[in-house]
Amino acid sequence: MSVRVGVLALQGDTREHLQALRAAGADALTVRRRAELDSIDALVIPGGESTAMSHLLREFELLEPLRARLADGMPAYGSCAGMILLATEILDAGAAGRAAVPLNAIDMTVRRNAFGRQVDSFEDDIAFDGLGSAVHAVFIRAPWVERVGPAVEVLARAGGHIVAVRQGRTLATAFHPEMTGDRRVHALFVDMVTGHA
Ligand code: GLN
Repeated sequence: MSVRVGVLALQGDTREHLQALRAAGADALTVRRRAELDSIDALVIPGGESTAMSHLLREFELLEPLRARLADGMPAYGSCAGMILLATEILDAGAAGRAAVPLNAIDMTVRRNAFGRQVDSFEDDIAFDGLGSAVHAVFIRAPWVERVGPAVEVLARAGGHIVAVRQGRTLATAFHPEMTGDRRVHALFVDMVTGHA
């Protein structure tokens, strides 16, 4: 039986994630409602704007249910804004009252728009632990990771900064693999969900 993987579809780029997940053999669907969240085995949080997504998570009454599912061990993968939200601590989180909120799924401190202060967007071929040849990584106003806890594996760096991590069955990348047609990161995540990686 294939795993049911949701893509949080409140804001941001969902279509490419759905395609990449289906190519990796998952049954992929969008998640906007509580019933959809309750029905999935794992969740992808896409790129977009972490402050807007935080606001919409509250509006749609998904914030606490999502935190609860993550605390309960639901596997998740976050790309860019999704990486920011999966953190336990967010630096430069945004203006008070509209800030990005941590979902506490990976023990790490993430700085929002960290690369964005230097250069808005860039691409780089980076080594990614366990994926063989380099991954072509697209960074768009991307975060980086400034601290990881002992349970977190660092999978990739760019310019010396941590840009991909894994803690148990939860994965995060500062870049957007869904934009390049390289399906290896999604395939890794689906293997993590099914217990094969
Ligand atoms: N800068 C965005 C944020 O703070 C992330 C950008 C992206 O997802 N491409 O959420």
